Amino acid sequence: MSERKLVNKVAVITGGNSGIGLATARLFNENGAKVVVIGQNDRSLQAVEKELGGNTLALKADVAKVEEIAQAMARVQETFGRIDILFANAGISECPPIQETDEEFFDHIMGINVKGVFFAFTKALPYLSQGASVIMTSSVSHKKGRPGDPLYAASKAAVRSLVRTLALDPEVLARNIRVNAVSPGAIKTPLTSQETPELEKAINDYIASTVPMKRWGRPEEVAEAVLYLASAEAAYLTGSEISVDGGLGES
Ligand code: NAP
Repeated sequence: MSERKLVNKVAVITGGNSGIGLATARLFNENGAKVVVIGQNDRSLQAVEKELGGNTLALKADVAKVEEIAQAMARVQETFGRIDILFANAGISECPPIQETDEEFFDHIMGINVKGVFFAFTKALPYLSQGASVIMTSSVSHKKGRPGDPLYAASKAAVRSLVRTLALDPEVLARNIRVNAVSPGAIKTPLTSQETPELEKAINDYIASTVPMKRWGRPEEVAEAVLYLASAEAAYLTGSEISVDGGLGES
């Protein structure tokens, strides 16, 4: 194996129990980090703790509830004494048709995808070490129209904007904390799985015809970009974005 890039770093990953977050938790663990995963599903949280072993902590919290995020970050501080890497990644994507979208759904998706990311940042901030790295999961949707999912696309544009501005915060800069985005394209995870073989085929055909590289991305391919942003190699990147989308965002 190549040189381990995160030896003894303390990394917190929201949504670390599935998909992109789980692939990142595994890669961070291989690279020597102490990994904290935050999610809601008891079974998958326990499974990550068991799989990754001793230096892993799984915490149950709803990122849409500020008090729960605050408690989770305080637990990390009590357990490991600091946070070196925050990957604010938890998110949902399904949207009802526009006319059926009510206030409750609006608050639900924005509560997880925007409020959850913002408060993961602010509640981790007191514990972030000098030179810490923060990565937020946006999406190719922040730069392309996404018919059928207006609130998802808007929530991811908000995340991209948060990265741009939080990176310039004077306290953040003074503490040499870097804030960057990762913007996945079509990645094969539970989030993008379909209910029937027919829908699965339809979406596979759609990906083949719209993604320049003509295939799904793998969560491990996103995790590699997150590892780079988390590592010392990315020391001069802040407010920035890495797109992992097979060319979709530029097409
Ligand atoms: P996923 O496998 O469904 O994972 C989503 C994660 O978010 C799960 O671990 C889930 O935990 C967690 N989560 C959701 N709501 C939560 C809440 N209220 N509180 C705490 N945790 C919550 O999906 P994924 O594809 O890896 O998505 C990860 C991120 O990438 C999301 O922000 C998504 O929008 C973004 N993204 C994905 C794609 C793609 O094609 N897959 C493309 C662009 C961007 P529980 O299961 O425990 O609820």
